[in-house]
Amino acid sequence: MKYEGMIYRPPSEANSLILQVAVGCSYNGCTFCHSFQGKTFRIKSFEEIKEDIDEAAHYGPIPRVFLADGDALIIPQKDLVRILGYLKQKMRGLERVGIYANAVDVLKKTADELKELKELRLGIIYLGLESGNREVLKRIRKNATVEQMIRAAKRVKEAGILLSVTVLLGIGGTELSHEHAEDTGKVLSEMDPEYVGALSLMIVPGTPIERDLASGKLVLPTPFELIRELGTMIANCRFTDCFSASNHASNYLPLRVRMPAEKEKALELIRKVLERRDPELLRPEYMRAL
Ligand code: SF4
Repeated sequence: MKYEGMIYRPPSEANSLILQVAVGCSYNGCTFCHSFQGKTFRIKSFEEIKEDIDEAAHYGPIPRVFLADGDALIIPQKDLVRILGYLKQKMRGLERVGIYANAVDVLKKTADELKELKELRLGIIYLGLESGNREVLKRIRKNATVEQMIRAAKRVKEAGILLSVTVLLGIGGTELSHEHAEDTGKVLSEMDPEYVGALSLMIVPGTPIERDLASGKLVLPTPFELIRELGTMIANCRFTDCFSASNHASNYLPLRVRMPAEKEKALELIRKVLERRDPELLRPEYMRAL
């Protein structure tokens, strides 16, 4: 398999074959994101991708494949259909293909086009909301509005594809901490995804957000303030059926909550942690990672 640069995938795709169909992120402008810095975006040729698929086809049955890099759903429909069609034909036991997308990529596809991809085993789309607060989205230069995020989520669900949404605790700084958490819970409810992953902001050297921190434009919430954000967000979430996790290594309090069934239990636990304010209850700083 030929990989260019560092490869990122969602934690839930740890056992998937990673097939790099594009290099980098076509937008690459979010202030906090370091993932694809230094990579010039390009879509790989079908010949390059075919070579990797042919090689992987010898490994044995591969039930899950993840298409990298950052927003591979931007690949034009006819090319994506060709890639997925070839994957389906060659990979024994293929059950599900996953992909990163941003809301604008999703909205460039019609519901019928998404359904066509679903027929070819595209089973899950990972989308970064980061925040449901308009001002925060503007500050972090996310390339989609709240309305676009919600419309994109509805289109994915209409096509019968699973939706996993990522949010970022702390991204509003102390100034917008409460608004960020409350609005994120409300927007997530409208998106009503099957999965939500909460990460905590970690500042990576060289990113624009590092300059905001250095200039004092952004002040990071404390660990307990981040946990308060998590509680506010969960309290504002009204889901049909969603598995929500904050067990990513960046978080201070790892939780796995099936909502709505376990919502009150999670809120009670967060209340207790905030009451006790015991640092022993948190993941130690040295164990946090992106
Ligand atoms: S859209 Fe995603 S991958 Fe691209 S810069 Fe923003 S956070 Fe990073």
